[in-house]
Amino acid sequence: MLWSNSFIPTLREVPAEAESVSHQLMLRAGLIRMLSAGIYSYLPLGLRVLDNIENIIQQEMNSAGAQELLLPALQTQELWQRSGRDKEIGEVMIRFTDRRGRKLCLGPTHEEVITELARTHIRSYKQLPLILYQIQTKFRDEIRPRFGVVRACEFIMKDAYSFDKDDKGLDKNYNLMLGAYQRIFKRMGLKFLTIEADPGVMGGKVSHEFMVPAKSGEDLEVGHIFKLGTKYTEALGARFLDDKGKLQPIIMGCYGIGVSRLIAAIIEQSHDEEGIIWPWEVAPFKVLIIPVDVTDKKMANEAAKIYARLSKENIESLLDDRDERAGVKFKDAELIGIPLEIIIGKEAFKNGKIELKRRRDKKVFFTDRKNLVKKIKQVMKDEAKP
Ligand code: ATP
Ligand code: MG
Repeated sequence: MLWSNSFIPTLREVPAEAESVSHQLMLRAGLIRMLSAGIYSYLPLGLRVLDNIENIIQQEMNSAGAQELLLPALQTQELWQRSGRDKEIGEVMIRFTDRRGRKLCLGPTHEEVITELARTHIRSYKQLPLILYQIQTKFRDEIRPRFGVVRACEFIMKDAYSFDKDDKGLDKNYNLMLGAYQRIFKRMGLKFLTIEADPGVMGGKVSHEFMVPAKSGEDLEVGHIFKLGTKYTEALGARFLDDKGKLQPIIMGCYGIGVSRLIAAIIEQSHDEEGIIWPWEVAPFKVLIIPVDVTDKKMANEAAKIYARLSKENIESLLDDRDERAGVKFKDAELIGIPLEIIIGKEAFKNGKIELKRRRDKKVFFTDRKNLVKKIKQVMKDEAKP
């Protein structure tokens, strides 16, 4: 992508309304913009990060044997009355009546909807076990939306649900999800803690939270998994015939990840004074090409050639072809945090060496034109190791 025709509105100043480092950097690097408290737009760079996070989650969920589906964000209040959670969830759930008089709500979570689906389609133990998941926008009227996407009123969650015929099956699926979560967070470069937690409003007995310690002292929960047991299936009547022909309630587990909150968690753990330092797998681009002066034809041509070479190799790169001072470009580069920078200055033509700079530790490497792609691939290989 060419920076000159991209929408990457970076900010020099620290926005006054942002209390946490991640919130400040997400605004400054042009990842998000606020529409109103707790309501955010994801700009192109932010969306690229979100897509990368979702890809990692999909890969790990699929390889654990879970299947993706997409449930409606609109739900009926009647379903929540049947599960018995209508009162408990209270004001957090956004409710309204449509023009037909249907009492609806915007899904804050999906245990009810998925259990209703299971109720109407799972008849026999032969259809179990099953793990279904989705990546979807959730709505919660939070009392105090804060820290940008950390606690928002509209946010993206990955929610998975397991269905089993007995406790042994639930234990197996629960451990499978626990392992998948650990791989997911590791691939995102996160240092995290897995701790036993209180199941709270979800119900059930066993639950684990995945916590990401932040420098600010705020620990931001990025995932939460629960052994629900039969709470929802009993309330909604989701039963199956066991191998003896007896009707039994399906045994459930549920597994959530705060997809959009993860962007903030990653930044909290991976930044410096100048800006974001993206871990390799989630980086919006892997390489940033910086011709120091684009009015110099030779430099601009060299940069364009390198950009074309990397595109051919499927290495996602951003070319800073803006007619800006070198200082501005370097500052923006540090701010948006692309892992590898290729700097094309006058030196490149004096001694034929191209400068590579690693964002994480500012280490500089030199390589000649011929070996550039080889060198980048070598750095990529090292960086991709979690
Ligand atoms: P919290 O304890 O932070 O209020 P929760 O326990 O209500 O979260 P869950 O219902 O377990 O959240 O949802 C699964 C995941 O969704 C959480 O682990 C969290 O990462 C994310 N999440 C929950 N609420 C929000 C929100 N308002 N904004 C962004 N992400 C959220
Ligand atoms: Mg929770």
